[in-house]
Amino acid sequence: MGKRKFKAESKRLLELMINSIYSQREVFLRELISNASDAIDKIYYKALTDDTITFNQSDYYIKIKADKDSRTLKIIDTGIGMTEDELEKNLGTIAKSGSFNFKSENEIKDGHDIIGQFGVGFYAAFMVADEVTVISKALGSEQAFKWVSKGTDGYTIEPAEKESVGTEITLKIKNNTEDDNYDEYLEEYRLKEIIKKYSDFIRFPIKMDVTKSKKEDDSDEYVDYVEEETINSMVPIWKKNKSELTDEDYEIFYQEKRYGFDKPIKSIHLNVDGTIRYNAILFVPENRPFDYYSQDYEKGLELYSNGVLIMEKCADLVPDHFSFVKGLVDSEDLSLNISREMLQQDRQLTLIAKNIEKKIKTQLLSLQRDDREKYEKFFEAFGRQLKFGVYNEFGMHKDTLKDLLLFYSSKEKKLVTLAEYVSRMPEDQKYIYYATGDSIERIDKLPQTELVADKGYEILYFTEEIDEFAIRMLMNYDDKEFKSVSSHDLGIESEDEKKASEEETNENKELFAYMKEKLAGKVKEVRVSKRLRTHPVCLTADGEISIEMEKVINAMPDQHVTAEKVLEINPNHDVFLTLKDAYENDKEKLELYTNILFNQALLIEGLPVEDPVELTNNMCKIMVASS
Ligand code: ADP
Ligand code: MG
Repeated sequence: MGKRKFKAESKRLLELMINSIYSQREVFLRELISNASDAIDKIYYKALTDDTITFNQSDYYIKIKADKDSRTLKIIDTGIGMTEDELEKNLGTIAKSGSFNFKSENEIKDGHDIIGQFGVGFYAAFMVADEVTVISKALGSEQAFKWVSKGTDGYTIEPAEKESVGTEITLKIKNNTEDDNYDEYLEEYRLKEIIKKYSDFIRFPIKMDVTKSKKEDDSDEYVDYVEEETINSMVPIWKKNKSELTDEDYEIFYQEKRYGFDKPIKSIHLNVDGTIRYNAILFVPENRPFDYYSQDYEKGLELYSNGVLIMEKCADLVPDHFSFVKGLVDSEDLSLNISREMLQQDRQLTLIAKNIEKKIKTQLLSLQRDDREKYEKFFEAFGRQLKFGVYNEFGMHKDTLKDLLLFYSSKEKKLVTLAEYVSRMPEDQKYIYYATGDSIERIDKLPQTELVADKGYEILYFTEEIDEFAIRMLMNYDDKEFKSVSSHDLGIESEDEKKASEEETNENKELFAYMKEKLAGKVKEVRVSKRLRTHPVCLTADGEISIEMEKVINAMPDQHVTAEKVLEINPNHDVFLTLKDAYENDKEKLELYTNILFNQALLIEGLPVEDPVELTNNMCKIMVASS
């Protein structure tokens, strides 16, 4: 029988495995055991619908056998087995395997990071073996087959002898080299350690012959004897007691389950025993999945009914605003044969989902309180989703989410909660102030913030597009309304001050009317500013739509809105005198000035100038005139 070649990707992955670094190698056993367990699961599922198959739990197990003399390690299972075709399809090409989908060349190059953390499947065997033999007999077949490979040069498949259904994998463990020790994978204690670490919650027994010693009767001598032992505790981690588990246990589970490449930033373990009974393990990932904010991202938790997986991604279990949460729910109260459609209306499920939402919120709040640094890291990754959550569905979830929000504070120079902001508000401050802009640095320099900052009030900086939309939906926090530093009435000026600026606007009515005419269609009004201290001009908006919102909405397809822009002039700035003077003596100059000031205000807002050539020409004209 001729040699068959691996598919291209498989070959590259194999090379990666063969050259893997030491600390990652031990996961080969996790991979082979998980395949064995999957194979037994498959028989279990078949038995559920096929009366000719009976499933006796005690007939199903995984056995690990090490033999130092022949340097072989065997992983034997009583699972569903593979036909000749399946050996070819499943082991000849990695592309078919669910565990490893290459997205790009880079991912393959970075593979060394992936190996340790993530499932790499069957080929992981080549990290420790220079030859792998798989003998398998599929359920319902008479004939067994043998697959053999020494690595990258290909594999052979031929008929073989095997009594019972299942798979037996034999690894020819590599010889030690100067730098690397492979003997350990033949050592009982080491194998036990690896199994405990990675595969403890596998539902089927993982058995191993373990050497023990005992005292012979009537003698002081110890003699060795061999006894078969089940190494794993078999109880799934979510059914264990929280007190038995360490952070590391959860991390290993997270990785074993392939919830992400990272570590969880928060692990939540729920054992709920009341009107609804369920166990759940939930994770908040540390990093945002690369596709998180794309259409491709699918939220959902795994759903188990008493230890048996019934749905891989049950979307109804987590609300959209917590769609970053990974994990599983196991409930005895759910029927195994429940259909997807029924599941959606299932009362138990709805209750569990409600309950889970509450727990996630509580846990996030306690993270916010107890480990702010971690919480900020979380917020950096998923804060945007929380803000979308406030905005979506007409603000239905805003009360759930408002205390989870963080915004940058002008005073604290860091992220703060709304509760913290409100607790610091001086007696006379009526509103929660915010300013919008592309970045903190940019907002720091915004002329519009001058008055509020001068007053000593804290300003929240909104740097994300969603911020202002979310806040408008929220409307107020703790009975305090939100107010943009650009809004017409800041609620700061005294009646006298208001009057004074109105008078000033009145006195210069004609000047402003003239300027407005020159800016035809671009501004709704030109007026005296109450908020500017040192800057000459700024742009604000009257009405519901802010300039920032106009930017965001107009960036969306088929959407168009216009903010009612107002050009505000600082009456205490020398430029105001210049304007007045030009109005009296040189209208042509006033037109130039108006154009330049308006464009200046646009630039400060981060808006594009409409006609850069005209603007720069105007600037030149002024330079020439004043020289
Ligand atoms: P994955 O487990 O993610 O599918 P693997 O590379 O680990 O990827 O395995 C590839 C495929 O080979 C499996 O999907 C399964 O069909 C088959 N396979 C591997 N090991 C066994 C086994 N012990 N018994 C039956 N089938 C197996
Ligand atoms: Mg696998």
